[in-house]
Amino acid sequence: MPDCIFCKIVSKEIPASIIYENDKVVAFKDINPVAPVHILIVPKQHISSVLEIEESDTDVIHHIFMICKKLAKDLGITENGFRIVNNCGHDGGQTVDHIHFHVLGGRTLTWPPG
Ligand code: AMP
Ligand code: ZN
Repeated sequence: MPDCIFCKIVSKEIPASIIYENDKVVAFKDINPVAPVHILIVPKQHISSVLEIEESDTDVIHHIFMICKKLAKDLGITENGFRIVNNCGHDGGQTVDHIHFHVLGGRTLTWPPG
């Protein structure tokens, strides 16, 4: 998708601190971390938001959660716990229109969100 910053990270048109990649997904460090561990996991295919997920995307969405689990283990945050966040739309706080899942950990996170 032209002008999509996360598509450009996927295609390596712009740099990112990529920590994991396979044929379906890319995971990279958030440029503005709000926790000691703050990574983003995105599908390589452009899906704008949760609202755009189709039945045919079931495999990749499932896969994203498997990679969340793997990376949380690799990053050492499973013992104390962590949070997976997806923001959708304006009120949800979505600022990049390419679906992404934040994995946050390394400190005690508060609830409810602001
Ligand atoms: P959201 O507000 O849920 O749409 O999250 C977008 C996230 O993308 C924010 O936490 C930003 O800090 C992060 N972000 C934006 N641009 C980049 C980038 N070039 N590299 C890494 N993270 C980014
Ligand atoms: Zn995109």
